[in-house]
Amino acid sequence: MTKNIIIIFSLLAFSTIVVGQDNGLVANINSPYTKLKSVNLEDVQWTGGFWKEQFDVATQNTLSYMWDLYHNDSITHAYANFEIAAGLMKGKHSGPSFHDGDFYKIMEGMAASYAVTKNPELDKQMDEAIALFGKAQREDGYINTPVLIEERWGTLGPEELKKQLAFEKYNMGHLMTAACVHYRATGKTNFLNIAKGVANYLYDFYKKASPDLARNAICPSHYMGIVEMYRTTKDPRYLELANNLINIRGTTNDGTDDNQDRIPFRQQTTAMGHAVRANYLYAGVADLYAETGEQKLLDNLESIWDDVVYRKMYITGACGALYDGVSPDGTSYDPTVVQKIHQAYGRPFQLPNATAHTETCANIGNVLWNWRMLQITGEAKYADIVELALYNSVLSGVSLEGKEFCYNNPLNVSEKLPFDLRWGSKREGYIAKSNCCAPNITRTLAEVGNYAYNLSKVGLYVNLYGSNHLKSSTLSGEAIEVEQQTNYPWDGKIVLKIIKAPKKEFSFFLRIPGWSQSTTISVNNDNIKEAVVSESYSKLTRKWKKGDIIELNIPMPVQLMQANPLVEETKNQVAVKRGPLVYCLESDDISMIDDINRVVLDVNSDFIAKTISINSRDVVGIKAKAFVETDDWNNMLYKPISTTKRSVDITLVPYYSWGNRLKKEMTVWMAY
Ligand SMILES: [Zn+2]
Repeated sequence: MTKNIIIIFSLLAFSTIVVGQDNGLVANINSPYTKLKSVNLEDVQWTGGFWKEQFDVATQNTLSYMWDLYHNDSITHAYANFEIAAGLMKGKHSGPSFHDGDFYKIMEGMAASYAVTKNPELDKQMDEAIALFGKAQREDGYINTPVLIEERWGTLGPEELKKQLAFEKYNMGHLMTAACVHYRATGKTNFLNIAKGVANYLYDFYKKASPDLARNAICPSHYMGIVEMYRTTKDPRYLELANNLINIRGTTNDGTDDNQDRIPFRQQTTAMGHAVRANYLYAGVADLYAETGEQKLLDNLESIWDDVVYRKMYITGACGALYDGVSPDGTSYDPTVVQKIHQAYGRPFQLPNATAHTETCANIGNVLWNWRMLQITGEAKYADIVELALYNSVLSGVSLEGKEFCYNNPLNVSEKLPFDLRWGSKREGYIAKSNCCAPNITRTLAEVGNYAYNLSKVGLYVNLYGSNHLKSSTLSGEAIEVEQQTNYPWDGKIVLKIIKAPKKEFSFFLRIPGWSQSTTISVNNDNIKEAVVSESYSKLTRKWKKGDIIELNIPMPVQLMQANPLVEETKNQVAVKRGPLVYCLESDDISMIDDINRVVLDVNSDFIAKTISINSRDVVGIKAKAFVETDDWNNMLYKPISTTKRSVDITLVPYYSWGNRLKKEMTVWMAY
């Protein structure tokens, strides 16, 4: 009886869906515990400058490259896995078990791109793939090609349970998210119907599964996915499932710190374990809080955030310091409670540079989490992290041309290191062992426009700056249209031209970055009287009329940065920032040097911002002076301090653009 009522409720809820409203990346207009709401995917069009360039690279180069790559049977086999699972051809599953999920990320990127470009070819390609997913999907909604293929050919065997514990929830999580974005971008229900099958399967599975089976969640994208399904369909079972998925963590004896489930989430107050899994968990918990308002969840997220941002995050916004760490560390002498963690968050202040793991997916996870925290709280500190990670440790994951990708994003690359890192230190077209980051960055760069603005009951939040055209409607349904013009992040002048605004008083909330000082704001050339405070949103309230001009000027001096001295790896070193961008030195930009680590930055030199070209892309470099220690290390571990140095001219380049030339050495931190 109860089940029937739920089904009837669900059907009623489906009939209320209105396309054209609540169509952001997260559909949170009705989420009771978010202060800020998403604009629709199609509302923001990049019109020029930095993000237009990145969006064009993502949609014109990367998406088609990824589509072809994932259709190439001899390289990735991802599409072929679906064809075999659907019975269209014979064969075995090939490639990593998370291939399905990575293909869904490409689909999500295509959908987000379609929302803005309305490119019919994308629509056709997506429909073709969705039809194939439908053929592969089992009657009960299950879809995961490593298992489906063996089921089809009768070779699944007794290891079924083990396979089930692989990346199937990750795969299905990305399917649900991609399907929600596809539905909002196209208004079509073909992908969403498959996702409903998946969500229903998961709901039934978790009802029946033992806690040991139910607890499994590697890189738990399905927390975000199932909450988004709840938001899209209003089916209360999906929210119930999301809550149960968090409840079950830490309730079995085989939980691990690697997987953040040795102790229940509600006992976790610091960041631990595998950084991708951690950040996806935190983003999923934020989604759950947005719907339920359980204070304990938010308290823990805020405590974990403090631990990450003040103790465990790189200056680039990257997360996951260690290839291999242990946990807990330093808290117990009992070796039986110490567990090995891969791509670990590590100890507070443990931030190595050359061996930084900093997987692109962890850095994207940092964006996903902070984006949700921003919408819950409306606090600018979260937008700062979104911006920091996007411009630096996310963008560094892809080449300027958009066809080569980093799995790791180290802050130092030295050819002198006498060992090979597990994942190498350069971009590749296809990372055979784990290509998860490439499709992840593909979808992320197609979606940055949706991060640029938010709506609240009283106004419009401007989170990210870049030339764009916003055409949206307020939460009460009145038209709002704004033209933003800027050369940000190369320049801090931003002009917002009002084209349409509500007739009544309305507020613009302008993000004043935490890194900035002395920002000025004027409206129609009159400076505002209110103080402009860094790491906040400046609120401008009035009756607006067509043609009104808001102008911000955010000074962008070169900033020399140091790390807390507890970070041993960067003691007495300096990094250079300008605006939101972290800079680095590459061996391409310094002559007669065979060791980037012998460069000493002259902090008293002039630092001159100058437009330069890297692979035909204009970026602002920074010219400065440095010294190079001339005596060689000659295989020594220690020697008296160097007394001979020669002065050299150097050009620092934005960190995200490293590795696009000769791919030799690079460093963010330099001695001074
Ligand atoms: Zn990855």
